[in-house]
Amino acid sequence: MRHVKLPGGDAVPVLGLGTWGMGEAGSSGPDMVAALTLGLELGMTLIDTAEMYGEGGAEELVGKAVAGRRDAVFIVSKVYPHNATRRGTIAACERSLKRLGTDRIDLYLLHWRGEVPLAETLDAFVALQRSGKIRHYGVSNFDLDDMEEWFRLAGGAATATDQVLYNLGRRGIEWALLPWLRRHDIPIMAYSPIEQGRLLRKRALAAIARRRGATPAQVALAWLIRQQGVIAIPKAGRADHVRESHGALALELTPEDRAELDAAFPPPHAAEPLAML
Ligand code: NAP
Repeated sequence: MRHVKLPGGDAVPVLGLGTWGMGEAGSSGPDMVAALTLGLELGMTLIDTAEMYGEGGAEELVGKAVAGRRDAVFIVSKVYPHNATRRGTIAACERSLKRLGTDRIDLYLLHWRGEVPLAETLDAFVALQRSGKIRHYGVSNFDLDDMEEWFRLAGGAATATDQVLYNLGRRGIEWALLPWLRRHDIPIMAYSPIEQGRLLRKRALAAIARRRGATPAQVALAWLIRQQGVIAIPKAGRADHVRESHGALALELTPEDRAELDAAFPPPHAAEPLAML
């Protein structure tokens, strides 16, 4: 497993496990726990979850998957913007800790910017960090202007990540946000790295995959995790999908592969607003 260093000094794997859609009515809990457990055993020891996912159901499944191996896992969770007041953030974090069955969250994020002043949320994050309930904090779905504002607030410069939509078909952040984050040594967490499966139907991906003896998902993931300071968090509820994601670690794209990908999925030519799912 390759790792990325967070500003706080921790090294986290470049490939983690997403959980959106897990813990919802109609999804099989035991199958999801088995998929997460397999991912952990393969070394994908960063799990991304949120109080939003399955309204707590995903965090409960994560709790089951990490039971007995908590110290080997880096748990990321997120607070809803409408809970992100000073007191609300602390209460939400405590509820998440209970569902996760743990005494600390490794990285706690503001899920997206809402109505609550950023300084209040940040104040709560700093208090939670002081009390040991979270180890690091950060943001999600922040475009450059939000990021700059957050960075100027007390404690803002210690942010560990910006978790954003980033994949071959969504390269807008390469214009300004990604270079800014790189200048500040802040890694990004690329969510929906295969665009929830939709990217896999693109012909250019299939052609490169065939040539390299890989799959389209592996090409899409390898393109992300071979970049400096990029962590990808694909979600897979099926064991074969988990194994396939893991296989991306072994795939090194050639300059020819990259040029073909750039032609099929061009980088941005102008500023564009941050895309979200
Ligand atoms: P994704 O990881 O791009 O795609 C997940 C979907 O692709 C699932 O339906 C999965 O199916 C399928 N899949 C996985 N591997 C596959 C493969 N090898 N071949 C074919 N299909 C495959 O999308 P995502 O869940 O939106 O994003 C990943 C994670 O990022 C989320 O789970 C969540 O943790 C995080 N996220 C964060 C935000 C935010 O606002 N911060 C927003 C979106 C997502 P199965 O489940 O059946 O295996």
